[in-house]
Formats: sequence, C-alpha cells, structure tokens
Amino acid sequence: MSTNISRRDFNKLLLTGVAGATMGLFGGSGSAFAASRRVVVIGGGFGGASAAKYLKKLDPSLSVTLVEPKASYATCPFSNWVIGGLKTMPEITQTYAALARRGIVIVPEAAVSVDPVKSTVKLKSGKLLHYDRLVVAPGIDFKWDAYEGYSQGLADSSMPHAYQAGPQTVLLHKQLQAMKDGGTVLICPPANPFRCPPGPYERASLVAHYLKTNKPKSKVIILDPKEKFSKQGLFTKGWQRLYPGMIEWRGPAAGGKIVSVDGASMSVKTELETVKGDVINIIPPQKAGQLAFTLGLTDASGWCPVNPTSFESTIHKNIHVIGDACKAGAMPKSGFAASSQGKVAAAAIIRLLKGQEPVPPSLVNTCYSLLAPGYGISVAGVYQLSPEGITEIPGSGGLTPIDAADDQLEQEAMFAEGWYNNIVRDIWG
Ligand SMILES: Cc1cc2nc3c(=O)[nH]c(=O)nc-3n(C[C@H](O)[C@H](O)[C@H](O)COP(=O)(O)OP(=O)(O)OC[C@H]3O[C@@H](n4cnc5c(N)ncnc54)[C@H](O)[C@@H]3O)c2cc1C
Repeated sequence: MSTNISRRDFNKLLLTGVAGATMGLFGGSGSAFAASRRVVVIGGGFGGASAAKYLKKLDPSLSVTLVEPKASYATCPFSNWVIGGLKTMPEITQTYAALARRGIVIVPEAAVSVDPVKSTVKLKSGKLLHYDRLVVAPGIDFKWDAYEGYSQGLADSSMPHAYQAGPQTVLLHKQLQAMKDGGTVLICPPANPFRCPPGPYERASLVAHYLKTNKPKSKVIILDPKEKFSKQGLFTKGWQRLYPGMIEWRGPAAGGKIVSVDGASMSVKTELETVKGDVINIIPPQKAGQLAFTLGLTDASGWCPVNPTSFESTIHKNIHVIGDACKAGAMPKSGFAASSQGKVAAAAIIRLLKGQEPVPPSLVNTCYSLLAPGYGISVAGVYQLSPEGITEIPGSGGLTPIDAADDQLEQEAMFAEGWYNNIVRDIWG
C-alpha cells in the first residue's frame, strides 16, 4: 500500500481502523508495530521534512509520520527570483511523494494540540497520533499588530509580505507587473530576529532588476528599522554597480522606522514622514509559528528555547523544536540552518530512543543572494557547541570578498542554483 494518501483516504482508513494498525500510528500492544518506535514530525518545511527523511534514512525500523496540511510546499528560497520574474512557482514547488515512497507516512492535516503527558498529537479532524518522540517545525508567524492600520487582511489584499512563499509571492509579482513605469516600490523589512536576514535585500535587488528591464523610470525605497543589515557592504556595492540611483536604503535615522500603514492611500507613516508607494511590501516582525505557542513551547522572546545538542525543548520533554521557530544561538533563521538542525535532531532522537546520549553536533549554514542574473554573493558559517550555546567557529566561513572579480560573482550565482537543486533533492527527494 502506498503511504502517500489523500486526506479523504486517510480519514476513511481511520474510520475503518486500518490506518492505526497498518501504519503503526496508534501502537497498542497488539499492533504489528508495537516494537517499532514512533516519531511524529509536525511541519513539512526545510526543518521538518529534513528530520523526517533522515530519521527514516538513519533508522529504517522507525515509524516516522510527517504531519503537514499542504499537499505541496513552495520554498521561500528562490521566491525572490519568482518576484523578479526569473523563475516560476512550479520551479520552486516541492511535493511529499518521494518521502512517502521512502516509507514515511504523510498525514495531510494540521496538528492542533499535543498532550505531552499522554504523548499524543491531536489533528484538526480530532484524530490522535501517538509518539515516543515528537519534532515540531512550524516555521514563523507574523506580529500582525506591529503597525497601526496593518492586518493580515491588508497583507492578503494589497500589501503582501511574501515572506511565506505561495499566493503572497504571486501577488507581489503581479503587482510589479501591473505597476506603471515611474512607480515607487516600498520594501519594509522587520527588526531582528527574522527569517532569512538577507532576504529583503535580495528582494530589493531582484525587484530592481525587473524594473530596470521593464519599467526603468521606477525606483525602490527600503524603509529599515535596523542600523545595519546582512551582507550590507556587498549589497550596497552591487546596487551602485547594477542599479545606480534606483535603490534607496533608509535606516532608522533617515525615517526607516514605520509607525503606521494606510491601505486606502497606499502609504506608510514613518517616524519622520509619510511615504507613498505604488507597490508596498511590508515584511512584519516575526515570532515562532502559532503551533509553538499553542503547545506552550515558546518563552518570553516569542521563540522556542532548546537544548542545543538535541534540539529537545527545554520546556517539554520528548519534544524537539527545529528550524525558524527555535532559538539556535548564532545560527540565522535559514532553510539551510533548519535542514542542518533537522538532521542533528534526527541523529539525536535515534540515540535517545536507544538510551544513548546525543553526540555534540556540528552545524552549517550557507546563504546565497542573487543581485542580478550572473551576479551572486554568499555568506557561510560552521557552528559548534560552546558554553554560550551554539556559536560560530571563528574563521569557519565568511562572506564573498568585497573586491570579488566578476567571474567570482558569476560563479556565486551558479553555485546558488546548484545549492538550491541539491538541498531540495536532499530534503524532498
Ligand atoms: C524571501 C525569502 C528567501 C529566502 N531565501 C533563503 C535562502 O536562499 N537560503 C536559505 O537557507 N533560506 C532562505 N530563506 C529562509 C527559509 O525559507 C526558512 O528559514 C525556512 O523555510 C525555515 O524552515 P522551517 O522548516 O523552520 O519552516 P517552514 O519552511 O516555514 O515550514 C513550516 C511548515 O510547517 C507547516 N505547519 C505550520 N503549522 C502547522 C500545523 N499546525 N500542523 C502541521 N503543519 C504545520 C507549514 O505548513 C510549513 O510547511 C528565505 C526566506 C524568505 C522569506
């Protein structure tokens, strides 16, 4: 029987009682799978899908269940390329078919609650999944009340964040297509910490690339509450070379801090003035995905504290939190970092289920940004455990040199494509 089942088939199986017995989800003592250990993973993004795949790969005897309501997953990496017209949505969309073929049970539902005492996950349909260890990887949520006048409704209709890839990505791209030549695009990044620190600046670059090619009288203004941003020197140099006079970055002293937004007049009020935009991309401040709050896994910071050796929650035993939702010390909130954490958590869980101590991990991250076709830059780091938690090994990675030659920038752009193809195959393949 294929383990990649539709929501309808899954419900039918649950009703007939076949699912529990066949998939080892309910694991009563009479189950054929009673001896096999059950790991449930919630969230099929970079973190969760990596954890599920590597749990099964490292120990095929494990019963691994991946709970993810979306039938397919559009990656945020390369979604800026879609916004800039360089890729299409199908090119950045992954499915769970290959994971199902590997024996991972894909449950196409949302998880709504967890009972950490009974070790059960409750699904939206009301059904329960039992686990010995649980991995929670719900990604991020937005602070919708961060600016007066801003709301989820406004993001859905006229001021997209495009910071969860999918319809929001398409909306922002369509708005650029519909904008008049000579228009202004406002990009408004959030304060730290947030998903993909270079993301808004790669976006500004690829929006400028689209405008330079299609609407050359237009401009991009970045309203930023931060004094500095990721790869700033490299971005600034690239913008001067590629888009002279087209991208303007305003930090907090120049009115980068937003106070309120107004959908009717398509304007943003900052601490200094009101700025109008023909297209307005508000990327709101962020926190851990809603499920992490519902499960009581967050602390006062709005993110989930974890033991850095195993990514086990320091709040609830037997529950591991990985990816953007967790507090991973010096690691940025990136897809690569989430995937690294998924693999570390998988290895740790396998040891813990055998009564062994997890091995202190080594974690990696590389993040490419494209400024234009054939013009890429990157930042890389290797991370280790230290008394302060997860810290970067000094000198382990670094940035593209500021004086990189054109062929090196071209190579970085090629590496970016290679990185994407490899990581999606590694996780969802
Ligand atoms: C524009 C942009 C560009 C980026 N570029 C890069 C890049 O080049 N390189 C890079 O490494 N990173 C990049 N990132 C960052 C990267 O996308 C994130 O860091 C990564 O997606 C985090 O993975 P995650 O698994 O924590 O969360 P996600 O990938 O968001 O996955 C979370 C999953 O959990 C599911 N979920 C949520 N709640 C529930 C629930 N209750 N029940 C079941 N499932 C649930 C969601 O449906 C989702 O599929 C970029 C981000 C953006 C916005």
